[in-house]
Amino acid sequence: MITHWRPLAYFALKRVLKGSRVHAYYRYLHSNQFLPADAQHAEQSELLAQLCADAARDVPAYRARFREAGLDPSRLRIDPAALARLRPVFREEIRDDQAAYLRAGTKPDDVELISTGGTGGSPLSVARDAYAKDWWLAENFLLNGWAGLGIGVPYFFLWGASEDIARTQAGLRRLNLALLHGRKTLNASRMSSLKEAQFLDELNRTPRCHYIYGYANELHNLAVRSLQGGPHLLRPLKAVITTAEPLTEAMRATIERAFQCTVYNRYGSREAGDIASECRHQRGLHVNPLFTQLEVVDDLAQPLGYGQEGQFLVTNLHNRVMPLIRYAIGDRGVLRAPERCSCGVSWPTIVALTGRVNDWVFLSDGSRLRCSALESVLVKLPALKRFQIHQVDETSLRIRLSSLDPNYLTHRSRELAEARHKLNMLSGAPFDVQFEVSDGALYKTEAGKQPLITYASNFKRAHAYRADMHTRLP
Ligand SMILES: [Zn+2]
Repeated sequence: MITHWRPLAYFALKRVLKGSRVHAYYRYLHSNQFLPADAQHAEQSELLAQLCADAARDVPAYRARFREAGLDPSRLRIDPAALARLRPVFREEIRDDQAAYLRAGTKPDDVELISTGGTGGSPLSVARDAYAKDWWLAENFLLNGWAGLGIGVPYFFLWGASEDIARTQAGLRRLNLALLHGRKTLNASRMSSLKEAQFLDELNRTPRCHYIYGYANELHNLAVRSLQGGPHLLRPLKAVITTAEPLTEAMRATIERAFQCTVYNRYGSREAGDIASECRHQRGLHVNPLFTQLEVVDDLAQPLGYGQEGQFLVTNLHNRVMPLIRYAIGDRGVLRAPERCSCGVSWPTIVALTGRVNDWVFLSDGSRLRCSALESVLVKLPALKRFQIHQVDETSLRIRLSSLDPNYLTHRSRELAEARHKLNMLSGAPFDVQFEVSDGALYKTEAGKQPLITYASNFKRAHAYRADMHTRLP
């Protein structure tokens, strides 16, 4: 729904100045969102076949992949499941030979490069042209609409990715974002208690902004600060959109209480756009099948059924200049089969995000322990804002705890001893586990995310290869 003068000006200017078709793409996504599951599926197969035909013809890496799989892309129209024969794409492969993944004849001036984080140890740049960018925006507008946020409604952007922040501060771009998108950026690349209070003051001083979009952890920190000591929010917001980091139910409840509005969790990535979002019924994150095809596979890239936990492969249906087809994005989770939600969409739904593919603690006997196992022990510690695991070597972990209580180690010594015991049981070997209380400043990656685990630098170099191997085909 267009509810503001900004979108009209925005669409008109983009059309006149850049020949942009974002309005047409938005209308396409908007008018097709309530299609029944089978019609949706047929439409997706058509988009997929078209993308793959173009990629197999114009992009060297995919030409080789389709040939190797003996797969004719036009077959995907009638048999989309045949895509599973195509070898997945790993970020290391794109990073090592970027040109092979670019459409032949692409001019550098026609694309922007988006760098993605180094959490898996493999930073990567993905190219996107104006066409893909318009689709990204159209998808973003559609999902915002679910939260009752019309296009151009002013909002706060709580972000810490240095590249994005730098981009928003460049002259015309800044004007575009501020005037047409209504975005006000809050730079969260470095946070402190003082800065949290300043941001809350800023929220109170800027009543024209109606919602916040940002990292789940930072929004939770702001909510805790607002509820415990203030400043309190002087008006309810229309919505909070959390992204980039896991959101627990406890975090959601705290954020909703502090900002007096619904939290919409969203899943996406810099290289693939907004993949999935909650609607107001909060029954998982609906995956838009006309924007992304999302598969769940096992560690050998074999497809898993709905309800089974595995790693995600993403196919973005609208990046023709640097297609991502069966791209191993590095996240794990569980999908629910398409079924009609009370909001009206019949899309597949992410019911659990279960962590990063490479989130491991490495043990001295050569085995490794998934971080989510440790996480299940640590989330039970009371009165914590957040924690982060740091592996020093194969026999010692340091666990950084972020708490408002500076004497947390003394006050909670009994619970900490219990947690230490459980962590040792999990590792199956004596592990030196040290707890530290931080003032809230946990380590962040270049992309502004707080990873669940970090490694001592020597240790990481020795083990990164093993972790990567696990995500590759034999
Ligand atoms: Zn829904």
